Amino acid sequence: MSEDCIFCGIVAGDIPGRTVYEDEDVLAFLDANPLAPGHTLVIPKAHHERLNDMDDGLAGSVLGTLNALVPVVEDAVDAPATTVAFNNGPEAGQEVPHVHGHIVPRFEGDGGGPIHTVAG
Ligand code: 5GP
Repeated sequence: MSEDCIFCGIVAGDIPGRTVYEDEDVLAFLDANPLAPGHTLVIPKAHHERLNDMDDGLAGSVLGTLNALVPVVEDAVDAPATTVAFNNGPEAGQEVPHVHGHIVPRFEGDGGGPIHTVAG
């Protein structure tokens, strides 16, 4: 847990979050400023800034949850596709320094490119 971290605050219940999935190690919740309806973030509960800061076990849990949730999110908002991405470091557009994978529902003709939808 990092004192100043928004996502640690959501894990702790100090900051409200709309939970999509939760287990011992992983939390998934709706993005507060969604790029599309159903935009979901998947995070490790423990504070790690970058993907490679996690050990393989935790990374596997985060990626496994991400993988399992893709069809759930697609079904929930009737999206035919998703952009799934990690912005890994500030120069890549990571604004919250706590590892998070984005699941962004995509729709035909939504105008976003393969990367720019997430990079902003
Ligand atoms: P990044 O640019 O770091 O890859 O993405 C950070 C994401 O976190 C953004 O999509 C932003 O909307 C989302 N976000 C920032 N603050 C909050 C918050 O307090 N609650 C939730 N649910 N999402 C947040």
